[in-house]
Amino acid sequence: MNAPLNISMPAEASQAPKSYKLLIDGRHIDARDGRSIERASPGHGFVVSRYAQAGAADVEAAVQAAHRAFETGPWPRMKASERAAVLLKAADLIETRLEEIARLDALESGKPIAQARGEIGGAVDIWRYAASLARTLHGESYANLGDAMLGVVLREPIGVVSLITPWNFPFLIISQKLPFALAAGCTAVVKPSEMTSASTFVLGDILLEAGLPAGVVNILAGFGADVGAPMVSHPLVEMVSFTGSTRVGKMTMAAASNSLKKVSMELGGKNGQIVFPDADLEAAADAAVFGGFFNAGECCNAGSRLIVHEAIADDFLGMVKTLASKVRVGDPLDNGTKVGAMISADHMAKVAGYVTAAKTDGGRVYSGGGQLASNAGQYLDPTIVRNVTEDMAIAREEVFGPVLSVLTFETIEKALHIANNTPYGLSAGVWSAGIDTCMSVARGVRSGTVWVNTFMEGYPELPFGGYKQSGIGRELGKRAVEDYTEEKTIQFHRGQRTGWWVG
Ligand code: NAD
Repeated sequence: MNAPLNISMPAEASQAPKSYKLLIDGRHIDARDGRSIERASPGHGFVVSRYAQAGAADVEAAVQAAHRAFETGPWPRMKASERAAVLLKAADLIETRLEEIARLDALESGKPIAQARGEIGGAVDIWRYAASLARTLHGESYANLGDAMLGVVLREPIGVVSLITPWNFPFLIISQKLPFALAAGCTAVVKPSEMTSASTFVLGDILLEAGLPAGVVNILAGFGADVGAPMVSHPLVEMVSFTGSTRVGKMTMAAASNSLKKVSMELGGKNGQIVFPDADLEAAADAAVFGGFFNAGECCNAGSRLIVHEAIADDFLGMVKTLASKVRVGDPLDNGTKVGAMISADHMAKVAGYVTAAKTDGGRVYSGGGQLASNAGQYLDPTIVRNVTEDMAIAREEVFGPVLSVLTFETIEKALHIANNTPYGLSAGVWSAGIDTCMSVARGVRSGTVWVNTFMEGYPELPFGGYKQSGIGRELGKRAVEDYTEEKTIQFHRGQRTGWWVG
């Protein structure tokens, strides 16, 4: 029996929670009905933040403000170079406030502070990348349609966009949407998760300081049914970009169909890492542990299925188990922590339920397996489950916790079958020294990203998104700004009318 985790209380625990107001039309305001949401740190248990809780009237005001800013404000009309300057200034300000933002995300989500710093640093890079794309966004011209015709295809901002984000990477995920929407000239209504809204409100302040005109970005804290749903169905919203669960993504898409909005969906994953005997097994073992337990497994890209060749299974899993036992679980604010707290007690119980069900179905807990005792907060032991079969819930559903399910294979065909035998298609990894093997897996897996001899790296230059029920569309990459545009075809005719109709 391990000693209970000793979680120390940070200075914030003895201070009043920080308060955040809604950002509508450039002003910080309380919710119209005066309600608020309190968020307790899942790692420590004290209330860190209090946000004004938006309702239907606040959504209406935010959408109207975004609509006005789009229809009559300067943002969609200014030069791309001017928009890029605001995005670059915002990136600089985020960098200046990196420590503060990372601490808010760590306190509200339970993620390790060192990891949070990396995420905010990554977000800075994304804001700068989006600024560069603002300058290169362009349409097409066709001078090959005959002497009398010039065809021009414009890229115009799509309009008001609703951006809805989850709790697991609060600042990073809004940074995968908002700078690209802004680069295109759109205006936005943003809803962070009701559990992790603080850093998005800080971003709102940063944008105003960077010179963003009032009403271009409006931020609402609140619950999905009260705030997310009307943001999706509102007739003045032209596009919804949603990151979250596949279940809510489906509801969102159905609601958006009412007014035929464009949708972009970044949803769940059930990603496999496939390990062949000729791989660098030390590197693969480290990546297996990283893939399974990074962000406490609360990650769309989690490598939650380890698909290992039979011939090396025992030895390789021994290496993985040894590494897993060294992973430091504990206080999110401790610089050495690798796995922090679980987002909520309910979610932790759900994750534990998957492990219990797997045991009933014949799975064997090989390492870890339960809640860790602690003086504060909620923590799970990184867990490895062996003897998992493809039909088990733990092999098919997104567990979203620090749980690695092990399946084995003998042929590459079987490995691919296992990898693809899920409704999801977000990402996958392959570990082998053989180019044929790597290429066969990379081509054969039905997922938006495949990592070859590495895992879960990301670059703003590379598109990210899912096949199958992991999503629709791609974020990041050179077309990320185009996603927030409409194409308009203009045909210029010169000279005499050609092709008289009546004669
Ligand atoms: P969730 O689907 O419960 O909530 C996501 C957001 O949607 C929240 O802001 C929530 O308040 C809002 N929402 C809830 N009901 C709504 C409704 N009816 N209409 C509109 N909005 C509504 O997801 P979560 O639990 O916050 O996040 C975890 C999920 O997100 C996991 O499934 C994970 O895989 C997924 N995710 C995907 C990616 C990706 O890039 N593919 C990245 C991170 C997380």
